[in-house]
Amino acid sequence: MDEELKCPVCGQFYFEERDDYDLCPVCGWFNDGFQKEYPDKLGCNHRTLIEHREQWKNGTLPDYIYDLIEQNKNRLPSE
Ligand SMILES: [Zn+2]
Repeated sequence: MDEELKCPVCGQFYFEERDDYDLCPVCGWFNDGFQKEYPDKLGCNHRTLIEHREQWKNGTLPDYIYDLIEQNKNRLPSE
């Protein structure tokens, strides 16, 4: 697996492209290459990479993110 494509928040999902604005079905992060490069800046995600990581870890992301995760969980690679 290409480490470059690994989700920068959870590290448990691999995107297909480096910067495709796809949603990570594990943590709800949108694959924004700019934000990955600048973790303290806003972009496609309405919180910084640092904030998202923190909120994901603590389970304090906004409700709509958990809804998106729920809607996308069928996209998780099967074991
Ligand atoms: Zn993720």
